[in-house]
Order: sequence, then C-alpha cells, then structure tokens
Amino acid sequence: MLNKRILVTGGAGFIGSHLCKKLLEQAHAVICLDNCFTGSKENVADLMSNPKFEFITHDITIPFSFEVDEIYNLACPASPVHYQYDSVKTMKTNILGVINVLDLACRMGAKVLQASTSEVYGDPKIHPQSEEYWGNVNPIGIRSCYDEGKRGAETLFFDYHRQFGLDIKVIRIFNTYGPHMNINDGRVVSNFIVQAIKGQDITIYGDGNQTRSFCYVEDLIKGMMLMMNTEKGFNGPVNLGNPNEFTVLELAKVVLRLTGSKSKLVFKPLPQDDPKLRRPNIHLAKANLGWEPVVQLEDGLKHAIEYFRKIVD
Ligand code: NAD
Ligand code: UDP
Repeated sequence: MLNKRILVTGGAGFIGSHLCKKLLEQAHAVICLDNCFTGSKENVADLMSNPKFEFITHDITIPFSFEVDEIYNLACPASPVHYQYDSVKTMKTNILGVINVLDLACRMGAKVLQASTSEVYGDPKIHPQSEEYWGNVNPIGIRSCYDEGKRGAETLFFDYHRQFGLDIKVIRIFNTYGPHMNINDGRVVSNFIVQAIKGQDITIYGDGNQTRSFCYVEDLIKGMMLMMNTEKGFNGPVNLGNPNEFTVLELAKVVLRLTGSKSKLVFKPLPQDDPKLRRPNIHLAKANLGWEPVVQLEDGLKHAIEYFRKIVD
C-alpha cells in the first residue's frame, strides 16, 4: 500500500484520536490539527513519539496549509452541550472552517472526507433513516448551529465537487461511543458510565423512551477508512452506524448492570428538538464498502467502562 500524508482535523478528539492511531499503524504520515476545544493532547499522547505523527494546535476557521494527499475533516464539537456553548463558533467551524478545508484540498489536489452526522435528518419522520431522506430539521432552534452547520458543510462539499471536480467523500455518522470520549463530554453514553462509576444519579432526559443506535468506535473507524478508499466518483453520503436500536432507558439499565452500580435513575426535562427516534439504514455502506458493525453494545460498553474506570477519580 502506498504511504500517504494525511491531515486529520479534530484529530485530538474522541474519534479523531482513534483514526490517527489506525492511520499510523498503516504506516501513513499523519498531521493532527486541533484547537483542543473538546479534544486534548492526552488522547494522542501515545502517538507523539512516532516520527510520522505531527500535532498542530490550530483552529480550522483560520486558513492553513499543508502538503497532504488526503484530509479527514472531523473538527467540530459533537456533543450538544459543547456545540451549544458557542453556537456561532460552531456554525463558523462548519462553514468557514469547511471552506478552508476544501480550499486546501483543491490547492493540493487532495481527497477529502467530511464527518457529517445523522443530525442532518433532524427529528426524523422516516424510520430508519436512509441517505435519500432529506430530514426534518428546525433551522432556528438550539441544535440548529450543529444540524444546519453540518448540512451547510455537506452542501459545500458537493458544490466544490461539482464546481471544481474535487474528490470528496461524505459519511453520516450515527451515535458513536468508546474510549477517549471526554469525561465531561455530556453525551449519553459517557454521562451514564461516569455517573454509574461515581455512584451519582443517572440523568434520563424526558421519559427515556427516545431511541438511539450506538456504534462502537472501532467499527466506525473501519467504515471511515473504507469510505476514504472507495473509487473516485463515489461520493456518498453514506450512513455509518450500528442499526441495533435502544431506548435511553434500556441503555441506562445495561450500564447499571455492567458497572454493578447502585445509582438511581432520575428524570430531567427533555431538551428542545431532541430527536425521538434514530436508527441508520446501512444498506449503502454494506453494498459499497462491504461494511457493517460487528461490536455488540455490551462488548463495546465494557471497553468504554474499563477506560472510564481508569480516568474517573
Ligand atoms: P469530539 O468533540 O471529541 O472531537 C471534535 C474535535 O474537533 C475535538 O478534538 C475539538 O477540539 C476539535 N475542534 C472543534 N472545533 C475545532 C476548530 N474550529 N478547529 C480545530 N479543531 C476543532 O467529537 P467526536 O465525537 O470525536 O466527533 C468527531 C467528528 O465526528 C465531529 O465532526 C462530529 O460532528 C462527527 N460526528 C460524531 C458523532 C459521534 O457520535 N461521536 C456522530 C456524528 C458525527
Ligand atoms: N440523554 C440523556 N441523559 C444524558 C445525556 C443525554 O437522557 O445525560 C439523552 C438525550 O436527551 C438524547 C439521547 O440521550 O435523547 C442521546 O443524547 P446525546 O447527547 O448522546 O446525543 P444526540 O442527542 O446528539 O444523539
């Protein structure tokens, strides 16, 4: 296999750090660019001594330039708590930042992959969600900076492809979990595990009957890399996620059982526009990438619990 120079924006984040590691294992040279808003150098600490790894502290909303063959664009806070913290910045990251990424790809003739999201389907009226569904997104709500930002980013990717012939790949990631999630990330899997380990109340938003389909990070990384390596002209978007669907209440009970925790379930208000159902249709990924997730929820959760036990005081 040809060794490439690969840029991973958001490479110090949860998914990005696993991706950097895997790319280095395949002997590629990796530039990890991150502003460390939600990611941290600790996530890539074990990669720092590798001479093929370079860490750059930088914000993608400010133009940058590197000689690279491929770009994975992951830079963007992914947890509602963090993307709503500075919603204007989230939009800038998805529009100005993505323009900077695409302009760089054009200058370098690099192939570029966008980490889009199931959030482009909003609170879906079609279930499960397949790629041809255009979604049901509130354009002015508290989640819009992320949902509409990511939709705008997809638009930019496809316009750069049509207008400048750029080689693009777009994946729509569904709820992914695993080691390296920030302890204060705020997403449901890390919240429940940390709460269970600490013996704190498990915070269920709403009645807990809303569903998500949880994909283990190792499965996702395989799918991302397969997508990047598809033939030119196959642009996606392609859903990547685990089609096994659980209610939030079911997830809480599994986490309690696996951690042996005595934490109590407490019910909190459901945030505005919180999607009621989410489950990917992955027929496109199966057919075009030969990909489907193999890690079952309980097995993936055990790895995540082991990770959080080491870092929770
Ligand atoms: P994360 O928050 O752990 O990682 C995002 C990384 O991007 C962090 O390291 C952060 O510091 C960095 N970042 C944010 N804004 C930046 C900016 N302006 N310039 C440079 N770096 C910046 O989240 P994650 O779960 O690893 O998500 C990675 C990507 O995958 C995101 O684009 C997210 O939208 C997408 N995604 C994730 C999921 C999921 O379930 N984890 C689902 C759908 C989409
Ligand atoms: N959620 C919850 N308790 C928490 C965190 C999240 O019940 O402590 C719920 C949240 O309201 C949503 C689901 O879990 O219905 C998934 O939330 P997350 O923030 O992980 O991701 P997203 O909503 O973006 O899918």
